[in-house]
Amino acid sequence: MMNKILGFTAMGIFAVSCATTTQEATEQPWIVDRFDDIKVIRYEVPGFENLTLQEKEYVYYLTEAAKCGRDILFDQNFKYGLAVRRTLETLYVAGRETAEAEGAEFKAMEKYLKKVWFANGIHHHYSNDKFTPEFSEAWFREQLALYINDDNRQIDDDFLCQIIFDPTLYASRLNQKEGVDVITESANNYYEGVNQTEVEAFYAGMAAADAGNPEPVSYGLNSKLMRDENGNIVERVWHIGGMYSAAIEQIVFWLEKAEAVANPTQREYVRALIDYYTTGDLALFDKYNILWVRDTESNVDFVNGFIESYGDPLGRKASWESVVNFRDVEACRRTEIMAAHAQWFEDNAPINPAYRKEEVKGVSAKVITVAMLGGDCYPATAIGINLPNADWIRKEHGSKSVTIDNITYAYAKAAEGNGFNEEFVLRAEDRERMLLHGKLSDDLHTDLHECLGHGSGQLAEGVKGDELRTYSSTLEEARADLFALYYLGDEKLVEIGLISTLDVAWAQYSKYIMNGMQTQLSRIELGKDVEESHMRNRKLIAEWCYEKGKAENVIEIVEQDGKHYVVVNDFVRLRELFGELLCEVQRIKSEGDYEAGKALVENYAVKVDPEFHAEVIARNQALNIEPYGGFVNPTYTPVYDAEGNMTDVTISYDNSYVEQHLEYSTNYSFLPTLN
Ligand code: ZN
Repeated sequence: MMNKILGFTAMGIFAVSCATTTQEATEQPWIVDRFDDIKVIRYEVPGFENLTLQEKEYVYYLTEAAKCGRDILFDQNFKYGLAVRRTLETLYVAGRETAEAEGAEFKAMEKYLKKVWFANGIHHHYSNDKFTPEFSEAWFREQLALYINDDNRQIDDDFLCQIIFDPTLYASRLNQKEGVDVITESANNYYEGVNQTEVEAFYAGMAAADAGNPEPVSYGLNSKLMRDENGNIVERVWHIGGMYSAAIEQIVFWLEKAEAVANPTQREYVRALIDYYTTGDLALFDKYNILWVRDTESNVDFVNGFIESYGDPLGRKASWESVVNFRDVEACRRTEIMAAHAQWFEDNAPINPAYRKEEVKGVSAKVITVAMLGGDCYPATAIGINLPNADWIRKEHGSKSVTIDNITYAYAKAAEGNGFNEEFVLRAEDRERMLLHGKLSDDLHTDLHECLGHGSGQLAEGVKGDELRTYSSTLEEARADLFALYYLGDEKLVEIGLISTLDVAWAQYSKYIMNGMQTQLSRIELGKDVEESHMRNRKLIAEWCYEKGKAENVIEIVEQDGKHYVVVNDFVRLRELFGELLCEVQRIKSEGDYEAGKALVENYAVKVDPEFHAEVIARNQALNIEPYGGFVNPTYTPVYDAEGNMTDVTISYDNSYVEQHLEYSTNYSFLPTLN
């Protein structure tokens, strides 16, 4: 499971404030490309130099393995995805050397190709809708006639044009609309020649045959379901010798190199993964996961395989992905300090002592630095990962939960200079504080929320925990956020060395209240209520504190030049209000007080003032901030001595988005066009 962010509202807050730095900031060196609704960001890999040579070598082989499955994902997303990509790349490389490259049609095709690279296919990575080309079919056919011949033709020209230009053909990669056959109406390549009823019957039969097994494999995870030549429904399994063999062989080639330099713990699961890729046996995938989840000690870690099933309308088939990473020592120190003082936080929480936990169990979350993104994690990626996905393995053996620090950092850097703070933060001192402390205050807020907030408190006797029904997730998020906000402003954090000044807390307070009352509304369509529970929670907290602090002017809505600004005037009093609301939300949860929970949510978290809402949307749109972000990878170069031993691995960051994709398509493309 993954935590995804859209990458704008939350991150816009770190924008550069003072006029003197705006000049450099508008160059935005972290953004390497922007097109359509996408910005492409460069991420750095701090700490890579400090890895041991053995770790660097291990990372290097894993990063190579991470690049070898790119074609698999293109084919999984759409049967003709590789055909479209390869044809466009041929036209692009040939055409960019000519005068044609300056023309509007060529530029439109370039934009389309950039979108195809970003989505790993012809459908938008988030909405799943097919892209609409902005170049004409007539011009495109001229290009085909010029540069495509019998040697480099991927599929029939007419069919290719239909795929690109007919909006009704393969319209959605993932159609889950009520009442449609989600299999036949979705253009992904996980199924062929079968309908939803047949698929469901096929896997129901498999589950029935395995009934009572407490450790069931993830049926169907690594195969395409289709008909054989006799019309029987069969799985084509993804393994060496099976479907996608040519790419999987390359992945295994690099995994075997990694195995040779792995530590003994790593070696065990790298071997299990290789065995699984070789045979396609899902029991071996479970074996791999169990061995992998137990390894909490190794510095370097990775994901490589058919992992997440968001791309299958029935949630069964997994897309190929890879992430190579290592421990962020400094950030982990943060969560360790927190865990060490967990009992103190619990004992001092501003809630009824009866609802405090007597004994807090150690909770920890690992913070990692990503070294390479591949497959379904590239170019768009998650900022947090929690694996494995099999329920029984999670229950019996646990799971690993990580947050990816260098990726959130890159998102934040990319937001600098986008004008968001200048537009929405009224006071220069608030912008300055956010600029200085925004990243740390966000990290600490997340750590406190995840490590301590959710785990705090206890239920009164006789309360089961399901009493709050549809309001429970909003109230639970509010409880964890309030715990985090309250303690962020506590001198204790200075005392234990997590922060050096409470300005870190005040930066978060200004941002949180502004976001909760105002800026997050830009993500909601005009006329709609707030639905999503994290958004509701933020609105609940901000609006409640606004109302309760009104007499003392704790939070103020300032109108200036026809625009509204949300400003915090009194941070210390605001912190007390956070404490008071935490006390009440904890009481509601501990006592299962449905009516009080409902009243809080309905009164503060749902309804939006339409005029205020329209203003936020208009101001946000004027900033032209792309809602989606993705990344280019760094390049790793091994250094060898005269005997051919690796002596170092160097890292460089000078990749352009276009060159990186062309390079991957040249050097890491192993599959035939049709699989
Ligand atoms: Zn939460």
